[in-house]
Amino acid sequence: MGTTLKLKTKEYTKEKFYDNLLRVKIKVKYKKLGKERAWGLADSDGTVYIDSRLKGKKALEILIHECVHLLWKEENEEEVISKSISLCNAIWNQRYRRIEEDKEQLLQDGTL
Ligand SMILES: [Zn+2]
Repeated sequence: MGTTLKLKTKEYTKEKFYDNLLRVKIKVKYKKLGKERAWGLADSDGTVYIDSRLKGKKALEILIHECVHLLWKEENEEEVISKSISLCNAIWNQRYRRIEEDKEQLLQDGTL
C-alpha cells in the first residue's frame, strides 16, 4: 500500500487519509437561535445553525466560527475565536460579500 500517515491516533494509507479529510461535509441552516443564547451552533452531525437575523461581517464570522468547530473539534473556544476572526478578516478584506436573497416585495404598482 502507499505511504502511511497519522491522523490523530489512527493510521491511514495516503488515500484513506485524504478521503477522511475530504469527508467533512458541512450543511448550513438558518434559524432564530434566541433560546440557545448563541448566534450559531455546530452539531456533531455536520450541520451548523446560524441565526437568521445576522447580517454582513458578523454573519460571516459566525459561519466561519461554527465551521471551525466542526473541522478542528479539539480546539478550545479561544482558539476557535482567534482562527475564525483571522479567516473572517482575510475573506472580508478581499471584499467577499453575501448576495441578499431577492425579496418578494412588490413595487407600488404591484410589479416585482
Ligand atoms: Zn464557539
